[in-house]
Amino acid sequence: MLDPRHPRYHSLLLREKIVEGYKRGIVVLEGLIAHGRGECFDYLIGECTTDFALEAIRAAAAAFLTASYPVISVNGNTAALVSKEIVELAKETDSLVEVNLFHRTLERSRLIADVLKKEGLEKVLGLEDAVAVIPEIHSERRRVSPEGILKADLVFVPLEDGDRTEALRRLGKKVITIDLNPLSRTARAADITIVDNIVRAMPRLIEEIKKIKSLGEGYKEYAREILSKYNNQEILSRALRHISRRLENIASGIDEKIGCV
Ligand code: ATP
Ligand code: MG
Repeated sequence: MLDPRHPRYHSLLLREKIVEGYKRGIVVLEGLIAHGRGECFDYLIGECTTDFALEAIRAAAAAFLTASYPVISVNGNTAALVSKEIVELAKETDSLVEVNLFHRTLERSRLIADVLKKEGLEKVLGLEDAVAVIPEIHSERRRVSPEGILKADLVFVPLEDGDRTEALRRLGKKVITIDLNPLSRTARAADITIVDNIVRAMPRLIEEIKKIKSLGEGYKEYAREILSKYNNQEILSRALRHISRRLENIASGIDEKIGCV
């Protein structure tokens, strides 16, 4: 049992979820390493949702609400950490959900689909239906559903690998990601990069979607306006400056959170 008074309680709780996911056959060993890389950047960021992350979250909400065929791509770590929120996001935005794994086996895809179904999702793509192939990707991640990612105009790929993000962009898809590392190829190739922990970003994303929808009739117009002002390059620069400023502060003995919203 974890002690909630432990200074790194929240971080340890996530580790436990990932390890549990591994034991259930949802997460692979490589996923544990990817999580550790994310943790390191979260430490540097200050383990909070920042102003630049929130701006990207708003743009992502706007992109979902103006897309004509949005698809959410789910891997093992995402399923282990935020399956409930993935299902809520899909329902709120009428998106399809597709399981897509770097280390793909039908068995693991089925386990992940079951987790999502348990959270109330009726239809999960990416199982036996993953018969189409995205060119230029060499891993098993190239297999996609003709009814899902292949057809999508918008693909949401949290915790994604760089090769695949770049390939999806080349296919002309709009790509949204969540990635704590602002230096990763995924972060740099995506149209919208949310530099935040997926467990903090997902509830915020759902909240922003609901806010925009609550505007009623003219909400799509408003969403388009948000998108027209958004600049991902600038968001990534702000993320790097934020980390650099925090390190400067800490080196001078000021260890306080900055830019949290
Ligand atoms: P790339 O292939 O894009 O250059 P990479 O090879 O460093 O990146 P991958 O293992 O392909 O990384 O993908 C995992 C990414 O997800 C990492 O960049 C990591 O920082 C990020 N990540 C891991 N856990 C989380 C999390 N909980 N929230 C947000 N991002 C995370
Ligand atoms: Mg990679």
